[in-house]
Amino acid sequence: MRKKTVIVVGAGPVGTVAALAAAQAGYGVELIEAAEQVNTDPRAATFHPSTIEMIASLGIGDEFIKQGLVSRFFDYWDKPKRRLVARMDHQALAEETEFPFVVQVEQHKLANLILEKLKELPDVRVRMGVECVGLEQNASQVTATVFGKDGVSTIQGDWLIAADGGRSFIRKSLGIEFEGYTWPERFLVLTTLHDFEESYGCSFRSYFADPASWTNLFKVTGDDFKGRWRAVFPVPAAETDEEATSDESVSRRLGPLLDDHKPQVVHRNLYRVHQRVSKSWREGRVFLAGDAAHVNNPIGGLGLNCGVHDANELIRTLTSFDQGEGDDDLLDRYERRRKKLNIDFVQQQTIDNKKRLEEVDEAARQSKFDDLSEIAADPERMKAFLRRTSLLDSVKQAQEIA
Ligand SMILES: Cc1cc2nc3c(=O)[nH]c(=O)nc-3n(C[C@H](O)[C@H](O)[C@H](O)COP(=O)(O)OP(=O)(O)OC[C@H]3O[C@@H](n4cnc5c(N)ncnc54)[C@H](O)[C@@H]3O)c2cc1C
Repeated sequence: MRKKTVIVVGAGPVGTVAALAAAQAGYGVELIEAAEQVNTDPRAATFHPSTIEMIASLGIGDEFIKQGLVSRFFDYWDKPKRRLVARMDHQALAEETEFPFVVQVEQHKLANLILEKLKELPDVRVRMGVECVGLEQNASQVTATVFGKDGVSTIQGDWLIAADGGRSFIRKSLGIEFEGYTWPERFLVLTTLHDFEESYGCSFRSYFADPASWTNLFKVTGDDFKGRWRAVFPVPAAETDEEATSDESVSRRLGPLLDDHKPQVVHRNLYRVHQRVSKSWREGRVFLAGDAAHVNNPIGGLGLNCGVHDANELIRTLTSFDQGEGDDDLLDRYERRRKKLNIDFVQQQTIDNKKRLEEVDEAARQSKFDDLSEIAADPERMKAFLRRTSLLDSVKQAQEIA
């Protein structure tokens, strides 16, 4: 019997996970990536227990975990008062998951690890520096037109997964609306060699609420495995890019967290932040996954996790369909499950997370802190809270959608 082929557009973390899962499920895979190399910008680095489970199911769990930092705790701080409000302990999930922790791994390391694994598999072709520039489909196949250093050519497949990021060419070429909004402020990411665990006593993932300027701090290993911290700050719309990335901005923003230490900043990055969900996630034989289907603010570290969950659900759906376990409605279930879960959990939770950090009303701020402290002091409430923040609940609920 002819082996079916999945074309995956985009070798970011979602595209590579989808490609490996498809190859392991017995598909031929054509993975194309416009860039010559995987993007190494500092972006997602938090992998929640539900996502680690899926990565482990691909047989790369140990290697993946070794690339990062195992982070059992995460903190909420009252930044102006320098007060620890709550320390959440993933160990509360020990009976729920084999991985009661998050792993902090830069997303490009996952993509590169998978690209190495794909080299060992038959019927997998990975082409870097090749861009998808056109798309056609009929009832039985999909054809991608691609452009690379050898010029224009076409690739035929049974299915196409658009994992081509938030500006998805494929979503746009299908005329699918990206519903939602863009926040007026941008987010500034400063990567520093300063060790906040030692100087501040905070966990590897810490959220600092402040009506004037909230901060997220999280530690990653860095490519040299010596460790570094990323600090994320909001930048008001009125501030120019030059001002936001200037030395003055670094001192003003990082200074209050550093006491008398030097900033030691090694990377500065400014991002636009959106809350958007694609109106439709499927068009015939083409499926959107990851940022191509949804984007959200990074507070809580959920966007990429949800993208990996999309890839996992999608390959299982295609496999079931190709094994004759359902009709077209089975293919539509992918959108029914993933879109609903993204809106109910990821969009909602990240918007709430942002509001919690920037709350200006003193009574509301205090009430949010009290709530977090009470959750941290009550094992059952903490477990329920962590089941939600780590997307374990969302995975379970998705399976219940027919
Ligand atoms: C500052 C910041 C911090 C973040 N932190 C977190 C976090 O802690 N946790 C979390 O879960 N999420 C986080 N996110 C979100 C996360 O980075 C994204 O969700 C993630 O990158 C999505 O992966 P993806 O594979 O869908 O898309 P991308 O990583 O954008 O990959 C898309 C790939 O497709 C390629 N491509 C595009 N067009 C074409 C084409 N036409 N042909 C071929 N290739 C193409 C691109 O070159 C790119 O390599 C963060 C985002 C930002 C901006």
